[in-house]
Amino acid sequence: MTKSTTTRATTATKTTKTAKKADQNSGLTAFAPYKIKKGEKYMNEKQQEHFKVILGHWRMNLMEKADSTVNHMKEEANNFADPNDRATLEEEFALELRSRDRERKLIKKIEETLERIEQGDYGYCDSCGVEVGIRRLEARPTATLCIDCKTLDEIKEKHIRS
Ligand SMILES: [Zn+2]
Repeated sequence: MTKSTTTRATTATKTTKTAKKADQNSGLTAFAPYKIKKGEKYMNEKQQEHFKVILGHWRMNLMEKADSTVNHMKEEANNFADPNDRATLEEEFALELRSRDRERKLIKKIEETLERIEQGDYGYCDSCGVEVGIRRLEARPTATLCIDCKTLDEIKEKHIRS
């Protein structure tokens, strides 16, 4: 009995590590997947809390990242006096600013998502109203569409563009 419990715990740790690796780019930190109990009500308080924690950490990470970039940019700007270096530096800054812009939008989206949790709208598809699902939300905590509506949306978008 004790042995099987230990094995299961090890497997869970491995899964968490993999999740962290995949999500590093977006700033989303690793978390243990929610264990859904049999017969548990969808988006009950415990589940809402689970996503509040995930979203809260994510937001904090993004904000810390933004702060460190600004400091880094200030330091670099002081170090380079050569005009050629400055040109490269300006290109670099432009790139960083663009990624900051993306992050700001993401932070805003995370805040809107937290607001949805407060209002009890979180986890339901904006388009058709079905449950988005715990696993899909864990992969994409800001998702507002179920996988079917999202897929349909992407097909429509491709159609318009081409
Ligand atoms: Zn839907």
